[in-house]
Amino acid sequence: MEKSTLFVVPTPIGNLEDITLRALKVLQKVDTVVCEDTRQTIKLLSHFKISKPLVSFYTQNQLKRLPQIIAMLEQGQNIALVSDCGTPAISDPGYNFIKEVLNKNITVVPLPGACALITAIVGSGLATDSFIFLGFLRKKTGKMKKELEQAKHVDKTIIFYESPHRILKTLEVCKEVFGEKANIVLARELTKKFEEFIRGSISEVINNLQNKKILGEFVVVIQP
Ligand code: SAM
Repeated sequence: MEKSTLFVVPTPIGNLEDITLRALKVLQKVDTVVCEDTRQTIKLLSHFKISKPLVSFYTQNQLKRLPQIIAMLEQGQNIALVSDCGTPAISDPGYNFIKEVLNKNITVVPLPGACALITAIVGSGLATDSFIFLGFLRKKTGKMKKELEQAKHVDKTIIFYESPHRILKTLEVCKEVFGEKANIVLARELTKKFEEFIRGSISEVINNLQNKKILGEFVVVIQP
């Protein structure tokens, strides 16, 4: 292992068997693991019988933490960056960190691995040749609508992340922007026991969810 490398290590989005052999090898070898919620990462590491010093890094403490972690790398430590699930820096903290580490001419090695948006689009059956990922949409209806309208004009498959308590409201905005007949797929609880793909027109999918207890995490895929 080269000296002073930041490894960006994806972790499972539900099914623990989705961690890669390389990810485990790197996590075993690094000096420190930088993570979001230490409780979450301790659970994951103990499952794989790995014990490492952990440093938490999240949006609220990143300004304070960044110089500390860069100092650790400059002193010769190898560090793994993980997030609570999936690929770090994809709708997760990590982008600023990776940028600063590169600015200091420290090597960054990203590992491929689990990522909810890729798993969702592949299973959606909607066009995968070209797509636009919007992360989490803006929360205010007007801003969300504008964001979706801009994406609609790009004329590619659209993907975004959404939480269970906002999904119905967001689908209503999608109906306004794309029309009730547009094809949509909700990918729910990917890789977990209750994994489900809910497919249909926007109206059909709204009907499917109405009057149900909506649980789990969602990826939304739309064909405008
Ligand atoms: N870094 C992660 C990745 O690579 O996909 C994304 C982290 S983001 C904070 C969390 C969001 O990803 C959730 O709100 C949900 O929209 C989506 N997500 C994560 N795991 C998922 C799963 N198992 N099934 C469906 N969506 C999931």
